Amino acid sequence: MSATPTLAERIARTIRQDVQSMHAYAIQPSAGLVKLDAMENPFRLPPELQRELGERLARVAINRYPAQCVADVIEALARFVELPAGCQLMLGNGSDELIALLALACDVPGATILAPVPGFVMYEMSAKLQGLRFVGVPLASDFELDEAAMLAAIERHRPAITYLAYPNNPTANLWDDAVIDRVVGAVAQQHGLVVFDEAYQPFASRTWMQRMAAHEHVLVMRTLSKFGLAGVRLGYMAGAAALVEQIDKVRPPYNVSVLNAEATLFALEHVDEYARQAALLRAERERLQRALRDMGGVRAYPSEANMILVRVPDAARAFAGMKQRGVLVKDVSALHPLLANCLRLTVGTPDENTLMLDALKASL
Ligand SMILES: *Cc1c(COP(=O)(O)O)cnc(C)c1O
Repeated sequence: MSATPTLAERIARTIRQDVQSMHAYAIQPSAGLVKLDAMENPFRLPPELQRELGERLARVAINRYPAQCVADVIEALARFVELPAGCQLMLGNGSDELIALLALACDVPGATILAPVPGFVMYEMSAKLQGLRFVGVPLASDFELDEAAMLAAIERHRPAITYLAYPNNPTANLWDDAVIDRVVGAVAQQHGLVVFDEAYQPFASRTWMQRMAAHEHVLVMRTLSKFGLAGVRLGYMAGAAALVEQIDKVRPPYNVSVLNAEATLFALEHVDEYARQAALLRAERERLQRALRDMGGVRAYPSEANMILVRVPDAARAFAGMKQRGVLVKDVSALHPLLANCLRLTVGTPDENTLMLDALKASL
């Protein structure tokens, strides 16, 4: 009889080789630091709303699978986003799950997923995990879309899905609309889908939600994470009903918990509070932009999100210095050559932002 294999041998034989070689998604430890690394809304609900939410959650039937409450969320979101006629919404456990479900649903032989880079890492990761090809098209040096490169790549690769983060992460800008129109048109010619990822919609001046109605091949994806519910995990995607119905078939039936659903309904009943928070964050973003403009050695890029990308003389040094002074941001310089010496700053509360500016200035 042969010896029982070790666990390492068992893993080597059973787990995909590419998964074994992968690094797990890294979440920076943040205990004791001012956390400005992940575009979270820094504000909690006021105490009386916290109490009300607690009572609402306590009454939820957690012994039952999610059913009606999820339908209620879809209806409330449709009203909130003014969903165009003929369109439908589906829910994800965060938009990360929707990105994974899109790769799963579009896994036809030879399928390619295309996105500008640097961009949100999950587009590439979901493609690779699903065994699809990922084509990253570098942005121009000012972080605008490289129109010629995008159109050439779309014609050459005929991607099933083209992601356009609107605005983009980590560059935080909204790309030129005339160029986007031509990209959307080119994808239509190639029989592909365009997904507008509007994770930062509360902080952006434009949206594709209404424009989508005139383009059957366009989907708009959003999340409540940057809105103020990152811990709740609720993403949603809208598009032509016939198309969304197909993608919704690959969704695990109970992917959104009754607690996620109830917390979302509660938030949508208090949109004024979230709108107030978003307005304050947009005002703080402008204050940060002015202060960064006056800071020697720092180049801050335009932002339509709750983050600002800055280029500094030495990102590793600035990141370490800020951390030592108690402020955690994200060093994105290794993500792509275009991001050399770039840090991504999340917009926090007024006090946090002042600490961040002081820490950055002292760490250059
Ligand atoms: C944060 C982010 C998401 C992920 O949102 P979740 O709903 O928290 O999974 C999606 N897209 C972009 C561009 C993001 O920055």
